[in-house]
Amino acid sequence: MAARPAAVASVLARSAQWTSTRRKSDGKPFYYIQGNTPGSVYMTDATGCTCSSAQNRPGPCKHSLAVAEYLARRAPKSDAALLEQLKADHVRHAKVLVCVGWEHDELYQNPMYSQRVAHIARLESAATGATVAA
Ligand SMILES: [Zn+2]
Repeated sequence: MAARPAAVASVLARSAQWTSTRRKSDGKPFYYIQGNTPGSVYMTDATGCTCSSAQNRPGPCKHSLAVAEYLARRAPKSDAALLEQLKADHVRHAKVLVCVGWEHDELYQNPMYSQRVAHIARLESAATGATVAA
């Protein structure tokens, strides 16, 4: 039986108490998660766990599912979200530069400005599937 969503949510709700660490051999990140039994602690990542449920039942346990959910929430923004943010920053920054006296054709001399223009162009071309001219 797969872990119940409510059980996963209950583990996830205590994520502030997890201890994040890395496996010595290969640097793979995992978490120490306290079990319901007093004193029980499991070593868990998104694909496996040391709890008895993970050992004895098919499918991921509630700890692994909670870790997967936790990592997904912390994942970097999607390209689309990043693009929106860059464009908003870009408009704001351009206004500031113009306010302090930059001419429009001088804006590209500002490294932050020109780098962001290039970044936006890359993301936009990735979104449309077009290739960027070097
Ligand atoms: Zn588990």
